[in-house]
Amino acid sequence: MSQDRLPPPEPEACLVRLRPSSQKGGTIIAEDVTDLATHERRLFDPDGYRPRFCPRCRDTTLHVHDYRERVLRAEPGRPVAKIVRHECVGCEAIWQVLPAFIARHLWRTWRVVEHTLTGATPTQPEGEGGRFPPVPKRTRRRWRARWLRPAQYVAQVLASCGEAVWAALAAGLSPAATCADLVAAYAGATATAAGHVLAAVAALIYRLQPKVRLM
Ligand SMILES: [Zn+2]
Repeated sequence: MSQDRLPPPEPEACLVRLRPSSQKGGTIIAEDVTDLATHERRLFDPDGYRPRFCPRCRDTTLHVHDYRERVLRAEPGRPVAKIVRHECVGCEAIWQVLPAFIARHLWRTWRVVEHTLTGATPTQPEGEGGRFPPVPKRTRRRWRARWLRPAQYVAQVLASCGEAVWAALAAGLSPAATCADLVAAYAGATATAAGHVLAAVAALIYRLQPKVRLM
């Protein structure tokens, strides 16, 4: 970093979680589920979303605990998605499995977030498709600030994950790179289709380091 520049601002507290969660269980992201049709197929298959083992105690017996409705704001199609939760017989941890296209903390799908930030529209609109309803200005501002913040925390996750392809991606970023730059580099390196890039990067970061959030 050059001497005349101030250090980058700290990320919003919610974007880097320092203390481990005391709650039993948590969220598993199904990275291969990128559209609503696939999600519903998996949901109606009794084993579609059943974790193969409990990430906490490695027990292999998990039962359906319940189904929850998740509201998706500003969605062109249906504004809710059903989410299944499984309970581990061994330790009673409860795991919800989220399809990769749902932005966990933003009450939206990633395609809505990506469309808002970049104008990208998925080449194959899912389900009912249609126009994207407007996202409130304050929300857009908040997303944009996160989008344009320095990529350093997220890049560190990639650099230290032990996978050469992600380490190389992080090494190719300039010191001043923003999260937007990092996402663009990912799209270039993986040829991920427009409208699906944010979902893919967010799921990757979550898998490598659940304490750090892209957005
Ligand atoms: Zn368990």
